[in-house]
Amino acid sequence: MDQPRTDRLHRRGLMFILSSPSGAGKTTISRMLLAADEEIKLSVSVTTRPPRPGEVDGVHYYFVDDAEFDKLVEEDDFYEWAHVFGFRYGTPKGHIRAALKEGQDFLFDIDWQGTQQLFQKDQQDVVRVFILPPSIDELRRRLESRATDDVSVIDARMERARSEISHWDAYDYVVINGDVDECFAKVREILHAERMKRQRQTGLIGFVRELTS
Ligand code: 5GP
Repeated sequence: MDQPRTDRLHRRGLMFILSSPSGAGKTTISRMLLAADEEIKLSVSVTTRPPRPGEVDGVHYYFVDDAEFDKLVEEDDFYEWAHVFGFRYGTPKGHIRAALKEGQDFLFDIDWQGTQQLFQKDQQDVVRVFILPPSIDELRRRLESRATDDVSVIDARMERARSEISHWDAYDYVVINGDVDECFAKVREILHAERMKRQRQTGLIGFVRELTS
């Protein structure tokens, strides 16, 4: 007897959003996920913020000046954009839409404002994950130990962290990052489970029909 055909099974890509106050470990978790999982790619944002030491144009961000950012806004090249810490950040549309159809997953390291905008545009593909620090003291300690920002920047980030945390309930999943490996494992489980969602798998009807005929 013929085996049911699995070659017509297909899955839409995910827009996997990781948000957190800065210092909660989101960047580390993002890097771990990108290194461990070949099916997900980073959506590289555009920003008017100057690069930090070690940041590479086109890898961490596309670094542009205000005029270039204005032009991208005018040409409707962003899925979403927002003001964060006095700079502007945006998600370029680029090839994302077509690649999602082909089953490519994208990781978005964006804030709650961007998350809201993306969710409004594309509820079907968006998965929203929020990472929390284990305590406010630990968050400050992590920000201070980075030493890439001066004290006034750290204070501003603590202030913003509190406000960012207040949006935790607009996310599908919340993970507390007390231990980075544990947090990573949980985020990965979420990604794996979301990929299996029935609504994301096209071709299932035909497959099940063959299975049961
Ligand atoms: P940082 O300057 O530390 O790299 O990022 C500052 C904040 O901007 C983070 O909360 C980050 O998630 C957010 N961010 C980065 N890219 C984007 C983007 O494309 N859109 C939005 N809305 N926020 C972003």
